[in-house]
Amino acid sequence: MVKSAIKQLTPYVPEQTLAALKAQRGLDKLVRLSANENAWGTSPKVKQAILDWGITDVNRYPDSNVAQLRGVIADRLTIDPEQLVFGDGLDEVIQLLSRTLLSPDDEVILTQPTFSEYGLHAEIEGAKLVNVAATDTGETDLNDMLRAITPKTQMIWLCNPNNPTGTYVTHQAIADFMTQVPATVTVVVDEAYIDFVTAESQASVIDLTPQFENLVVLRTFSKAYGLANFRVGYAVVAKPLARLLQTVRLPYNLSTVAEIAAVAAYQDQAFVDSVVKTVAQERAQWLNFLAELGLQFDASQANFVFFKINGAKQLSELLLDHGYLVRTGLGENWLRVTIGKPADNLVIQGLIKAFKKGQK
Ligand SMILES: *Cc1c(COP(=O)(O)O)cnc(C)c1O
Repeated sequence: MVKSAIKQLTPYVPEQTLAALKAQRGLDKLVRLSANENAWGTSPKVKQAILDWGITDVNRYPDSNVAQLRGVIADRLTIDPEQLVFGDGLDEVIQLLSRTLLSPDDEVILTQPTFSEYGLHAEIEGAKLVNVAATDTGETDLNDMLRAITPKTQMIWLCNPNNPTGTYVTHQAIADFMTQVPATVTVVVDEAYIDFVTAESQASVIDLTPQFENLVVLRTFSKAYGLANFRVGYAVVAKPLARLLQTVRLPYNLSTVAEIAAVAAYQDQAFVDSVVKTVAQERAQWLNFLAELGLQFDASQANFVFFKINGAKQLSELLLDHGYLVRTGLGENWLRVTIGKPADNLVIQGLIKAFKKGQK
């Protein structure tokens, strides 16, 4: 018999390949702005590192310990290397945390809307979702989250900045929050988009992990580093939990090529800095545009914008006809658009403006 929790679930609808969608729609050009990928690619050093490696020893299992990548990350974050747990993308780390920590009837608190994987894996483990609505401006409501804690609460998910709203909780607010959460409750802060935050210089809460053993911080190479295809994500956790996660983790979840790519990308911080700078400029331009158009939108600190417009589904079809794929289905009449290159952003904005005008 299939687990009853799984019978009610529906499979994740992944992105179609760009080639398939282009063929289906008869498009010459297709720019995917629906998955928050990096429009500027990745560091050129990644390709060179893979060529230097030369595709050798592929008959051997990769390093289960990912020692090289572990070393460079631990050095930069000044943490104990054993505090790092790697996954085949953050997706796997989210699954691993859920599998390790959750039992049937445990409660998991999350903001609404947020990244769907947290809820999916909680439900697979038979846990109960406790949704806390975001404020009218799309902010995660930490006070409501504290009020939602019960003796059954096992985990709290904090996506920071939050996907899909892009809103951000300050370092100080999370530090205060942690002092009020019982030590038996694991708080996971998903920092997939933390590199894009410009509102404060020290946004990450990795520095709080020595103080709070129940704090887990997640990072990925898929967004600012532009390595989504290589699937590398990691958790920064206290050593006791790290040991448990290592027990549950599949032994060879990262390939050698993924490790080599991630090391090269991590060592080219200049590439990430330049992407972050351009994204911040384009984001400010986007938010101005949305405000001038009189649309409702959330204050994004990430590499995407989230806004409400009548006929959003229809607009997304129009954008696709012009070769731009954006994300629908995250809220009625809301669209999430990844920040792309300046020229593409202007074309999309022109189409949105004309679409809105045509509705009057
Ligand atoms: C994209 C994304 C991830 C998944 O990242 P991968 O490392 O590519 O699996 C995790 N969390 C959030 C909030 C994301 O948007």
